[in-house]
Amino acid sequence: MSTAVVETEEHTALRSAVAALGKRYGRDYMTTVVREGRHPDTLWAEAAKLGYLGVNLPEEYGGGGGGIAELSIVLEELGAAGCPLLMMVVSPAICGTVIARFGTDTQKAAWLPGLADGSLTMAFGITEPDAGSNSHRITTTARRDGDDWLLTGRKVFISGVDIADATLVVGRTEDARTGRLKPCLFIVPRDTPGFQRAQIDMELQAPEKQFELVLDDVRLPSEALVGDEDAGLLQLFAGLNPERVMTAAFAVGMGRYAVNRAVEYAKERTVWKTPVGAHQAVAHPLAQAHIELELARLMMQKAARLYDDGDDLGAGEAANMAKYAAAEACVKAVDQAVHTLGGNGLTREYGLASLITAARVARIAPVSREMILNFVSHQSLGLPKSY
Ligand SMILES: Cc1cc2nc3c(=O)[nH]c(=O)nc-3n(C[C@H](O)[C@H](O)[C@H](O)COP(=O)(O)OP(=O)(O)OC[C@H]3O[C@@H](n4cnc5c(N)ncnc54)[C@H](O)[C@@H]3O)c2cc1C
Repeated sequence: MSTAVVETEEHTALRSAVAALGKRYGRDYMTTVVREGRHPDTLWAEAAKLGYLGVNLPEEYGGGGGGIAELSIVLEELGAAGCPLLMMVVSPAICGTVIARFGTDTQKAAWLPGLADGSLTMAFGITEPDAGSNSHRITTTARRDGDDWLLTGRKVFISGVDIADATLVVGRTEDARTGRLKPCLFIVPRDTPGFQRAQIDMELQAPEKQFELVLDDVRLPSEALVGDEDAGLLQLFAGLNPERVMTAAFAVGMGRYAVNRAVEYAKERTVWKTPVGAHQAVAHPLAQAHIELELARLMMQKAARLYDDGDDLGAGEAANMAKYAAAEACVKAVDQAVHTLGGNGLTREYGLASLITAARVARIAPVSREMILNFVSHQSLGLPKSY
C-alpha cells in the first residue's frame, strides 16, 4: 500500500529499509526470544546501528535529526514484520523527547547519545496503583533534602525497568497539595538504593516485562530533575503525545502483520472448490480491517506531523484520536486474522493467538479507549464531564 501522498520520498525509503530489516528477523525471531526468556538485543543493536532508534533525536547528540514521523515509521514497519520493539515507545520517543526538549546540557550529554545509539535504554513510569487513569491523583512525592531530592511512592505496570538503565519517573512536588497536577520528572538509575521492582505476572508473550515499583525515600541528586519544577505539565505532554503516536504505530504494525498472515493463509487454504479467501464472509472483514488500519495510519501521520511542526495542542487531539483508531483497528484485525485461520488460528505454530492479548494492550495503554473518548467529548466537542 502506497504512502506517497502523505509521506516524503525519504519516508518511503525509510519504510522500505526498515521493512527489509524486519523481514530478516520476523516473527520467528521474536517468538524464539520470548520462549528463551531473552530480549531482542540483536535486533535492537542492529536497528540502532542503522540509525533507526535515534532517528528522532537531535543530530548534535548522535541522533538522526528527524521527528516522531520517522520514529513511528520505524516501529510500524518492525511491527508489520512481526518483530516490534516496544521499548521504542518509551526510550527514544518519550524519554528522548523530554530530555532533548527540556533536559539540561549535562542530562542531554549523559543520555541522548546512548539513547540514540541504543547503548542506553530508559523506561517511563507514570501509572500508580491508586490513581490508574486518573493521573491527577498520583502521589509519588519528591521533597527537598538539602540539595538532594527524596522520592517516595509506588508505580505499576512499568515496562522494561529490568533492562532500562534508568526510569523517568513522574512525581509531584511536595508543596503541590492543591489537587492540581504539578508533575515533575526524575531520572532514577536502575540500581539506586530504595528503588525496588517486582515483576508482574502478565498474560502477554512479549520480551518486555511489566513491573511494580516501590520508591522508598530514594535519594537523588538535584540534577536528577528534568527541566523546570514549575513547568511540569507542559514537559509531560511533550513526552505523552509522542507516546500516543508510537502506540498507534505499534498497533498499526501489529494489525498489518496479522492481516498479511491471514491473507496468505486465505489464498492457500481450500476446503471446498476455491480458497477460503474467495468467500466474501472471509474476504470482506479482512478488506475492512485493511481499510481501518489505513485510516488509522493516516491519523497517525497527521498527529506526527503536527507534533514535529511544534503544534503541541493540535498534536494532542490528533495523537489521542490516532491511538484510539489504531488500537480499535488492531484489535479487530487480529480477531479477524485468528478467525480466518480456523483452528490453526489458535495454534502455537501459526503464532497469531498470542496477538489477541497483545492487541488489547494498545486499547488500554498508555491511556484507555474510554479516557480518549472522554478527552474528545470534553476537549473537542465541549460536552460536560461526569467525573
Ligand atoms: C502491557 C502494559 C504496559 C504498560 N506500560 C506502562 C509503562 O511503561 N509506564 C506506565 O506508566 N504505565 C504503563 N502501563 C499502564 C497503563 O498506562 C495503564 O494500565 C492505563 O493507563 C490504565 O490504567 P489502569 O490499568 O489503572 O486502569 P483503570 O484506570 O483502573 O481503569 C479501569 C477501566 O475503567 C475505565 N475508566 C476509568 N476511568 C474512567 C472514566 N472516567 N470514564 C470512563 N471509563 C473510565 C478505563 O477505561 C478502564 O477500562 C502499561 C500497561 C500495560 C497493560
